[in-house]
Amino acid sequence: MPRNRRYAATPSVRATALPAVLLGAVLLTAALTGCGRQGSPPAKGPRPADLPGYRVDHAFSLPASATWSAAHRRGKVVVGVKDDQPYLGERDPATGRYSGFDIEIARMTAASLGFAADRIQYRAIASANRETALANGQIDYYVGTYTINDRRKKQVGFAGPYYLAGQDLLVRRNEHGIRGPADLKGKKVCSAAGSSSIQRIGSDYPDATPVTYDTYSVCVDNLLTYQVDAVTTDDSILLGYAAKAPGEMKVVGRPFSKEPYGVGLPKDDTALRYALDDVIVAHERNGDWRKAYAATLGQSGRPAPAPPPVDRY
Ligand code: GLU
Repeated sequence: MPRNRRYAATPSVRATALPAVLLGAVLLTAALTGCGRQGSPPAKGPRPADLPGYRVDHAFSLPASATWSAAHRRGKVVVGVKDDQPYLGERDPATGRYSGFDIEIARMTAASLGFAADRIQYRAIASANRETALANGQIDYYVGTYTINDRRKKQVGFAGPYYLAGQDLLVRRNEHGIRGPADLKGKKVCSAAGSSSIQRIGSDYPDATPVTYDTYSVCVDNLLTYQVDAVTTDDSILLGYAAKAPGEMKVVGRPFSKEPYGVGLPKDDTALRYALDDVIVAHERNGDWRKAYAATLGQSGRPAPAPPPVDRY
């Protein structure tokens, strides 16, 4: 091998040499240099002191809900989440601890249903497996950038929404040719299998070349190693990846869909659905929602929006 090849930054060499570790290396560098660029967010997620504590409603009871009753008997609620989405749902591999806005939504809802933080068991479930996990009882409910839509409502129930995102594009910092989805012709666009994001590319932008993986973090690795040209999903998710690797990537910033996030739950458990709707509204009213947002998702650069109205369908 010629001497200079090892360090050559050509796409092919970078692609074969580093794929899975590159994002990690970027993040590590950011951590070692004191969180990267001045003003960029801490790599380890929110400081516990910044997070709200949620009042656990020990008197809560919902016998009409089969899901709640089973969780109550078990003494634990099992919540499906993402574990690789910065500021939303992320697991620290060193401590095993979960953090992010979705995790806070999981904690505040669980507290109101009578489960303290140490009574929550998190289970990482990829986008493509959410409906099955809810249908077969692997999880009690799901909080993880889960868009409410009519297609999914045929299989699962949704409380909320508790946040409104929009589909966007993440590109490398030096990419100037992709300014919106209309520029995706002939471009490799990566997203997660089973997501509304990849579905929209397939239906509305058929000239793009879709590439799918189980998770968005693998797409981001592929972007950084020049194997794809863009990553597409919700702006909330993309802003987190961009913020964690300062100077490497940018979010195009022109959302082209509406993605209302709901808490997914078993389809027929309307008692739990209405209870969760009430609980979400209560935490929006008492300031918990805003405080949780500021300590988590707000760290990726977007000021707190007003939460969308809950849809009690
Ligand atoms: N919100 C979109 C969805 O539910 C994309 C993010 C995700 O895959 O979780 O499909």
